[in-house]
Amino acid sequence: MSRLFPALTDGPPEKAALRFGPRTLTYGSLAGAAGALAARLEGTGRVAVWAVPELETAVAVTGALLAGAAAVPLNPKSGEKELGHILTDSAPSLILAPPGTQLPSALGDLPRIDVDASAAGPLPEERAADGDPALIVYTSGTTGPPKGAVLPRRALAATLDALADAWRWTGDDVLVHGLPLFHVHGLVLGVLGPLRRGGNVRHLGRFSPEGVARELNDGATMLFGVPTMYHRLAEALPGDPELAGALARARLLVSGSAALPVHDHERIAAATGRRVIERYGMTETLMNTSVRADGEARAGTVGVPLPGVELRLVEEDGAELTAWDGESVGEIQVRGPNLFTEYLNRPDATAAAFTADGFFRTGDMAVREPDGYVRIVGRKATDLIKSGGYKIGAGEIENALLEHPGVREAAVTGEPDADLGERIVAWIVPADPKSPPGAEELADHVARRLAPHKRPRAVRYLDALPRNDMGKIMKRALADA
Ligand code: ATP
Ligand code: MG
Repeated sequence: MSRLFPALTDGPPEKAALRFGPRTLTYGSLAGAAGALAARLEGTGRVAVWAVPELETAVAVTGALLAGAAAVPLNPKSGEKELGHILTDSAPSLILAPPGTQLPSALGDLPRIDVDASAAGPLPEERAADGDPALIVYTSGTTGPPKGAVLPRRALAATLDALADAWRWTGDDVLVHGLPLFHVHGLVLGVLGPLRRGGNVRHLGRFSPEGVARELNDGATMLFGVPTMYHRLAEALPGDPELAGALARARLLVSGSAALPVHDHERIAAATGRRVIERYGMTETLMNTSVRADGEARAGTVGVPLPGVELRLVEEDGAELTAWDGESVGEIQVRGPNLFTEYLNRPDATAAAFTADGFFRTGDMAVREPDGYVRIVGRKATDLIKSGGYKIGAGEIENALLEHPGVREAAVTGEPDADLGERIVAWIVPADPKSPPGAEELADHVARRLAPHKRPRAVRYLDALPRNDMGKIMKRALADA
């Protein structure tokens, strides 16, 4: 196997690799700590990682990968039930955690190894094969219980190298990171990405607009975030010229994990002169598309397929959509070296997820613009509303609602309707709870911007939308809200 982390041996050992809060590691000291851990993990098949946003998590995953073990990152905030499910499902032989960290009783008597970020051992040779499992990452659980996606080493290398090409990502880049480390966004892109390039990552511990401004003003070049973070930046920008200046200085502002609302994209562009670029990926596929660093960042689009990724849109009858007209909707299917191999212990779900010719059915619906840009309209299961003979994407209605000054947050769903099949329902968090915009006014606002048949038939008001730890709207929880 080609090495996952050439910079550990080939780069200058004094170069900065990681910073978490006040704590830092150079490439030389990371190689020592990960090498020492790898020696202890020799021969181990699968290890759990208590994925707190700390230096030790980066060392633990790097050490496990060097040893050829598969790492299972655990969300330290997950409840007993979810932890129990993941542990039973993935059956790790031990858990890696920072020294002194209290672990919950749900872990039972799972043996523990404390990760020593200041240890120094020789680097082992990376002997694992390209197809060997590197990570087992549980999906976000947005549409159902999380499933463990088995990601081979090949997929990590392929996706990170494709992003390096698309984003001109090099060892000179310094990443500002404020995401959790138990999903692929924060772990694969945010930690393994910089390490594979020989670059530097600075983790904020907890995301804040001030932290982002501070790091970008102090030499950081890229920011990776989820839409809720860009929303907070957009809200903070008026009246904060320092933040505007810092964002204007960044080489790359990247959003992913969910759709970035057009309204936030435009507000950031207006205040900073910079356009956030969107990339589209999944736990199962790692990254599929992105706006390229030298491409045009168009609001509401996720760019073009990454190098090595075959992407097609497929109609309900299985026929490939060949019209790139920006109108015809099909399911995104992808094939390439970036894909997972299987859902752990779920041969049924794995078989159902792939087509006979090896494409993965993403469950995401999209159109393609004439120049090949992909525009996601939403998830097949929750975002595609079949109403009055039309197929309507929830996303564009949400974007229209968010442009109304009285709306802070918006989600759109379909509900059974005797006449229409489904009717469009808008869930709104008003900007001012004391004077929420009326249902009629919101429906007219949407109908004026889009089309009469996209008019919400009911508006429901909430204090907050149900979101998971990546800030994704949990539409299946809306029905019970
Ligand atoms: P689960 O599969 O458990 O229901 P999930 O699909 O949210 O949860 P992830 O693998 O973390 O779990 O998320 C992948 C999904 O996130 C994609 O299928 C897509 O719906 C959405 N997504 C990711 N990036 C984007 C983006 N840039 N724009 C729109 N949607 C996105
Ligand atoms: Mg999913």
